[in-house]
Amino acid sequence: MSIYTPDTPVSALRGIGPKKAEAFEKLGVRTLRDLVSLFPRRYEDRTHFTPIAAALPDQPVCIRAMVAQEPRLNRIRRGMEIVKLRAVDDSGAMDVSYFNQSYRKNSLHKGETYIFYGKVTLNGRFRAMTNPVTEQAARSGSADSVTGRIMPIYPLAAGLTQRILLDSVKTALGVCLPAIPDILPDSVVQEYGLARAHYAYENIHLPADLGKLELARRRLIFEELFVLACAMRRLRADRTAQTGQKLRRFDCEEFYRTLPFSPTNAQRRAVQAAVDDLCSGSAMNRLVQGDVGSGKTLVAAACIWYAHKNGCQSAFMAPTEILAEQHEATLKAFLEPLHICVARLTGSMTAKQKRGVYEALSDGRIDVVVGTHALIQDAVQFQNLALVVTDEQHRFGVQQRAALGGKGDKVHTLVMSATPIPRTLALMIYGDLDVSVIDELPPGRHPIETYVVDERYRERLTAFIDKLISEGRQAFVVCPMVEENDELPSELKSAEEHARTLQELLPHRRVACIHGRMKAKDKEAVMSAFVRGETDVLVATTVIEVGVDVPNAALMIVENAERFGLSQLHQLRGRIGRGRFQSYCILVSDSTTDEAKARLKVMKETSDGFKIAEADLRQRGPGDFFGSRQHGLPEMHIADLCADMSVLEDARDAAEALLKEDPDLSEPEHAALRAKCDRLFALNAGRMN
Ligand code: ADP
Ligand code: MG
Repeated sequence: MSIYTPDTPVSALRGIGPKKAEAFEKLGVRTLRDLVSLFPRRYEDRTHFTPIAAALPDQPVCIRAMVAQEPRLNRIRRGMEIVKLRAVDDSGAMDVSYFNQSYRKNSLHKGETYIFYGKVTLNGRFRAMTNPVTEQAARSGSADSVTGRIMPIYPLAAGLTQRILLDSVKTALGVCLPAIPDILPDSVVQEYGLARAHYAYENIHLPADLGKLELARRRLIFEELFVLACAMRRLRADRTAQTGQKLRRFDCEEFYRTLPFSPTNAQRRAVQAAVDDLCSGSAMNRLVQGDVGSGKTLVAAACIWYAHKNGCQSAFMAPTEILAEQHEATLKAFLEPLHICVARLTGSMTAKQKRGVYEALSDGRIDVVVGTHALIQDAVQFQNLALVVTDEQHRFGVQQRAALGGKGDKVHTLVMSATPIPRTLALMIYGDLDVSVIDELPPGRHPIETYVVDERYRERLTAFIDKLISEGRQAFVVCPMVEENDELPSELKSAEEHARTLQELLPHRRVACIHGRMKAKDKEAVMSAFVRGETDVLVATTVIEVGVDVPNAALMIVENAERFGLSQLHQLRGRIGRGRFQSYCILVSDSTTDEAKARLKVMKETSDGFKIAEADLRQRGPGDFFGSRQHGLPEMHIADLCADMSVLEDARDAAEALLKEDPDLSEPEHAALRAKCDRLFALNAGRMN
């Protein structure tokens, strides 16, 4: 009987003091149960042996060789000892050295055979290994061995070693495996040919061979995506079961007639779908997905007008103050002529101003309030809130949307996003939403001219900036992110440095700089000065990515463009070409790799966000949408939402089939699954923004 249980803290393990426990905590591990879910980062295949003469330099290999002479101990200098020996096999000989492991002198014996795992260096004809993993050949491949098997390599934190991790995980497996419930129903395991939970956890940590590892991985990835799919589906079921205020029908032409332009067909379709939701009696949960510049705001305005016609209030939540201000201005232009009262509520307003808004909201004088997170605060009360609109969905979590919705009775939700996401993923990510796609841009846009150039164009580029400014335009210059612990190669331009240089080159122009390390308030100030036209050039990191509208900006220069993902470049380019002026996007890159060239070529050739997203996915994998956790989904432990796309589809189908049978997972055999689904969102509640 073990004295441990799955809930035993790792600090109770032998040899794990407070320091190490703290290191484990950094890896997200507190208990033995957590350890079982700490999956290896990668594996080293130490099952194949290489003859000494065949070992290639600088690649890890396992060598089975005999110690040919007694190991010698040398003191090089104080505090530095070295044990040296010569090892031989049928093919040749190599020198092996161990630094500061003097015990090796007595633990390795002439005439005995060992396994050495490490990188071989070539010194002329001589091969050598330094500090290899070493084990008696007779032990290799046995239960506790570190060679002759596939070794898991865990993520580490300071103070921990692979040895400590492996020993701890082994103990944890011994304790937890019998207690791990198989949360996948038998029918699913069988239909999709999956491994069972015990097998999977055992083989993900200590795979007997690569085939078993693959089975284990597939099962765990499937499980993770299956839980996610179930959780999303249930969220959606919750929503669709919700009633929404049933609004009376009006003819939208009445609204369209007041506009300075005619809505596109795509806009009309999106509005119609939303109106049908609003009048259905169920709560609307609709995502309006449309490329930058496709005119999503108009769809929101139409819905707000519709709510107002029904005597109801609306709230519009934006991720930043600047966006809130811009939306306020846009909505005012659309709605004030119709006598709809638009107000703003943001963190930077004075207490008195805020109080005024609170009062006017609760007594119904304000029809629609535009704001940031400030809208979620308790003090915000509505008289009759019927519609919540959120812009740039990925900045808000499911919970935040719900928090705002909770301020009314039977509230409808409209979400707007410009993040183009391939369909399979959209279904998953927005599993709780219906989707309207705006696949048409308003007419009369000047296509943006896009160029890819290298450093040789620097002078011409600076002159071009100057020329456009002299014509009254403004320019964005985007540099890769400045990260403190990121060692930027020196040729990469940090925003600050680049702004300084540019200001020197263009002393008569007003150059401003904005980057992620500035305080939110300072960022807002710099940004609004640019919006007001008080600066000519804004040098920025990608903080400008999200929907800010500066119609006068006609030039977007992206430095080290190869460092950006395509979808990111597309979002950046979407910041220009929003006014009447011919706009230019110039991607500066000295990169000569084929991959970088191919990527930038895509930008030159298409302006279609969905095409670009797909190209991005093909070329780079999911990093771009998913690296920065833009999707608002919980973090995955083992699955990769894009790379594991086909498993994702299977998992989704399986989840749908199961929930058809048992919609609330109330059957006793689904209890563990249900608990896991519930925990998924509860655990991530704080992290989903
Ligand atoms: P996004 O989808 O990026 O949020 P916006 O709603 O900001 O796009 O619209 C971009 C610009 O296009 C705005 O200046 C808006 O007034 C204008 N616009 C929207 N719809 C139309 C239309 N049907 N015809 C002409 N201009 C339009
Ligand atoms: Mg927008």
